[in-house]
Amino acid sequence: MDNQLVTKAIDTLKEANIRITPQRHAVVEYLVTYHNHPTADDIYHALEERFPNMSVATVYNNLRLLTDLGLVNEMKYGDASSHFDFSTERHYHVICQKCGKIVDFHYPSLEDVEMAASRLTNFAINEHRLELYGDCPDCQQKG
Ligand SMILES: [Zn+2]
Ligand SMILES: [Zn+2]
Repeated sequence: MDNQLVTKAIDTLKEANIRITPQRHAVVEYLVTYHNHPTADDIYHALEERFPNMSVATVYNNLRLLTDLGLVNEMKYGDASSHFDFSTERHYHVICQKCGKIVDFHYPSLEDVEMAASRLTNFAINEHRLELYGDCPDCQQKG
């Protein structure tokens, strides 16, 4: 586990005067440790044994809080439930169309896209999203 990232995230919460409950700490820890773009449900199931009294709504509220503080990105894909990404750096996603796995990759030169868009439209560009879809190695092997 990347303890430094967890500590940093917890510090951000403290600075925002947010109480660090054991559940909240566990959600942060989970996001940093697995970095697997979980849904609220995924986190709930991973933590339900440790926190039998915790509800999916609690997990969701914590994710919402972390998103508002800019520690987590909410990834919305159509009607499917949101995935949450603990991100410290801008990155892109490849998404498996068979199992739904989401994997990060970095490709800095894509930031040229923002400059080109800005030049062509005179917009001040704040962000852009890029998602690529395909079959992950596991699913390819399964044929
Ligand atoms: Zn797959
Ligand atoms: Zn990601």
